[in-house]
Amino acid sequence: MKADIHPEYQDVAISCSCGNVIQTRSTRAGDFSVDVCSACHPFYTGKQKQADSGGQIDKFKQRFGVVRSKKN
Ligand SMILES: [Zn+2]
Repeated sequence: MKADIHPEYQDVAISCSCGNVIQTRSTRAGDFSVDVCSACHPFYTGKQKQADSGGQIDKFKQRFGVVRSKKN
């Protein structure tokens, strides 16, 4: 390794908004937090979060669900 050109590689703790804490190493100084991680992201958990619960989608179904049932 060349002297005085490499950033310091140190232990860091990454804390997620779900409560999960990942111990790893990084050149980034200090611990930091993230919004989503592999423990809580829907891609890894296989569970889909319900983003819209009764709002625009229900209004859409009320308006256009009637139209569709008439055609069928
Ligand atoms: Zn997480």
